[in-house]
Amino acid sequence: MADAVPMTELQGIPVSGGSRIGRALLYEETPEVSPSSAVPPEDPAAEVARLRRAAELAKEDLTALRESMAGQEGIAGIFGAHAVILDDFMPRLESAIHDGMTAERAVATVLHTYAAELARMRNRLVAQRSQDIVDLERRLLRALSGLRPKAPDPGKADGPVVVVAHDLTPTETAQLEGRNIAAIALELGGATSHTAVIAKSLSIPCVVGVAGLTERVQPGDMIWVDGSKGTVVIEPDSATVERAVGLGERYERLEASLLRESHLPAETLDGHHARLLANVEFPLDVRAGIDRGAAGVGLFRTEFLFTPDQGLPSEDEQVKTYRATLELLGGGQLTIRTFDFGADKETPFPSDEPEPNPAMGVRSLRWCFAHPDAFKTQLRAILRVAAEGDVRIMLPMVAGLEDVRMAQAAIRAAAAELAAEGVEHRPDPPIGVMVEIPGAAVTADLLVRHVDFLSIGTNDLIQYDLAVDRMNPHVARLFQPSHPSILRLIDGTIQAAVEAGKPVTMCGEMGGQSVYTVLLFGMGLRSFSLTPGYIPRARRLLRSLTLREARSLANQCLRMETAEEVERLLLDSVQPIGAG
Ligand code: PEP
Ligand code: MG
Repeated sequence: MADAVPMTELQGIPVSGGSRIGRALLYEETPEVSPSSAVPPEDPAAEVARLRRAAELAKEDLTALRESMAGQEGIAGIFGAHAVILDDFMPRLESAIHDGMTAERAVATVLHTYAAELARMRNRLVAQRSQDIVDLERRLLRALSGLRPKAPDPGKADGPVVVVAHDLTPTETAQLEGRNIAAIALELGGATSHTAVIAKSLSIPCVVGVAGLTERVQPGDMIWVDGSKGTVVIEPDSATVERAVGLGERYERLEASLLRESHLPAETLDGHHARLLANVEFPLDVRAGIDRGAAGVGLFRTEFLFTPDQGLPSEDEQVKTYRATLELLGGGQLTIRTFDFGADKETPFPSDEPEPNPAMGVRSLRWCFAHPDAFKTQLRAILRVAAEGDVRIMLPMVAGLEDVRMAQAAIRAAAAELAAEGVEHRPDPPIGVMVEIPGAAVTADLLVRHVDFLSIGTNDLIQYDLAVDRMNPHVARLFQPSHPSILRLIDGTIQAAVEAGKPVTMCGEMGGQSVYTVLLFGMGLRSFSLTPGYIPRARRLLRSLTLREARSLANQCLRMETAEEVERLLLDSVQPIGAG
């Protein structure tokens, strides 16, 4: 290794943990097919037939890919979805051919335009689906020219390689399995893209969103990817390499040992129990939660059900999704949050007027009240599936009792309709509210009397209480879970629920950060709904302390005057598990 070359560290978004080193394999997808022929096809019918043959070939590829991923259920699901999307696009592609385009041009125009539209969406869940469309576009273009899908190929590299690329599609990522790939570093991408999900399922450390990456890396450079911290180091010096290797070995040992504990109860040394549930952002997370021993789903974000192409799913389609999730959980609880559209989760209706201040506008429950038909469709679907297992309804962005009463009336009306139609349903599933507006936290004692459970959403609670836009990196340092005001709001909410004898969960990200898990347990919180990856660490941490220790820490924190003092005390007192 050339210690003389200065080492460069770049920061990106960590999406799949682990620390690995390898030689850079620069991968740039070069289109092998020119879609630009402007000459209209002589015979549109023959051109449509060519497109259909290509679509069949593409589907055969997708089936083969799915089969090669047997045992990786989640990944197989992604490619199953690609086949469905392909079918959905066929009428539009065929009509573009009838309008005078060649098959290649139709594919490039229709799919490319759609992918670009998705990428521009403010809703990150939707925006990140653009990669899937690009994947399909490439697959079809290749099929049209008789080529097979291509993937980064380490060839005869004599050691592990790090794939460095502008972006990778889900297919390209899945095809890395079993090759000599140490890690992936990408310039584009987001934390919830399918590429990130696949890298995680294949246990390949991965960092995305690394600005300037491909300009700075030369083929063959030594690269260290720390997928837990989100860093990429180019040409690390020998001391750094040693540290990276040690970190990687520790990470792998820790992950394996944490997973082996998934069946153990989340219980303190003195026998006090906590319930660990999973936050589900899209269906693959359900399996990840179950694998980590989650007792159910504490937050099922239903916004992923919307796609700009298909709009909102029908009642029956929603029933299918909720039922499949419930079945996977095998008796575990499924807490379905009603639509939380608006602000960071873009509205599905283009006719909704743009708002000057969307985080405080017609979002979430207010959006549902403004769109009673969409709300009713969702409620009917939930009530139908509630007849089949432990399904609970969770209302987001509740500001006060009026919101609860309006939502309860909508639920009663949906139940009455189903009853009148003779459709099987449960009219009275447990109904809970998210406490994510400071007004709701301050009046939690009033709200809790009228509902079955509370769930604290710190992602929004902190945003609103401290006036810090949760999406704005320029104020990220002011987003302080340990601010005394936040601690008081959370403590007050927990106490209100405890006094009323009703369950309270935290489903905001704060609950999964090790130091706060201990603090919250000390405050009396006994139910945590976490991003699946955080569950094993929270379990190990809770199993390493006593209630007395946690309580004493919480009492000290509640007396402190600044976020910094709280942070310092927590960091001195709690030894996070692994990267924490
Ligand atoms: C929250 O606000 O804490 C929460 C869990 O909901 P979301 O992040 O989906 O707004
Ligand atoms: Mg929220």
